[in-house]
Amino acid sequence: MNMRRAVALWLVLSLKLVAQDKSVQSAPRPDDRLKADVLLIVAHPDDETAVSAYLAQLLDQGKRVAAVYLTHGEAGHNNMGRERGPSLGAAREMELRHAMAQLGVENVWFLDGKDTPSQDVLQSLANWHHGSSLEDIVRIVRITRPAVIITWLPSIFIGENHGDHQAAGVLAVEAFDSAGDASLFPAQLAQPRKVNETLLEGLSPWQPQKIYFFSDASDDKQFRGKGPEYATTAISPTRHLPYWRIAMEEFRFHLTQYRSYIEKLGSLDDEQLTKLAGADQDGWSTPVRLIFGKSLVPGTATGDVLEGIRPGIFPFMRPAASAPA
Ligand SMILES: [Zn+2]
Repeated sequence: MNMRRAVALWLVLSLKLVAQDKSVQSAPRPDDRLKADVLLIVAHPDDETAVSAYLAQLLDQGKRVAAVYLTHGEAGHNNMGRERGPSLGAAREMELRHAMAQLGVENVWFLDGKDTPSQDVLQSLANWHHGSSLEDIVRIVRITRPAVIITWLPSIFIGENHGDHQAAGVLAVEAFDSAGDASLFPAQLAQPRKVNETLLEGLSPWQPQKIYFFSDASDDKQFRGKGPEYATTAISPTRHLPYWRIAMEEFRFHLTQYRSYIEKLGSLDDEQLTKLAGADQDGWSTPVRLIFGKSLVPGTATGDVLEGIRPGIFPFMRPAASAPA
């Protein structure tokens, strides 16, 4: 090899090295496929049923919805087969993914929390390794970058007595307050140091702007005026069905839990379904009632969920700490 060729080869190789180095050091843009406008944070596959008629309205408005489930619902019953425990959890994840795909929500994540049937929120949080679950939820908030979080109400009411639901609400509020804080879970924010990085995640802090709750409480009249309500009887312009019917179609995949009820739905014609939807105990056509949690933008508690939302990155607001008594 003569001197000129050696120099040329050296130049090509070093340029290549610089290019490789740059790809690691300069932060690339976040993956737009992961972006959501609204993130649903819940405990079990089927928890979305309470708000799916509203999620369908958001999707009709061109908004992006994503969801994260703290457990696989493996403590439920199985009316479809012999699978129990973690195997039932696998079946329920499958049901949920089909259900959400039918609704139009493609981005769904499952965390590893244990389904904990109790009425004790602290037991659920302990079973989920509270801090580690918070780290996982904060990661999902930072990768999905939602303006709004919708979750279970952390409070306990008659009819709303699943500790996992309250725990999902507690974690969602903590994630709302934490995901924008660059001092929390810094390994998620550190830039990767090598091509096959496995520890440093390259994310950015993200501050959601609003959080809303929903509840399973038997008496939901007590929440009237505490947040926006969304009628479910309007017809979807894209699916030409009332929103309650879209929610019902989504629900039909949860066969392990509600097989006989879903089979009954399957035996009814449109007119009978409409009658059933209006019945009190079924309640499909009652409005989706959200409870205002908090907002960092101006607006009213009963205003639209997306009212006042600002586009782009919102500055981190450190939540006010309550003074000790
Ligand atoms: Zn549940």
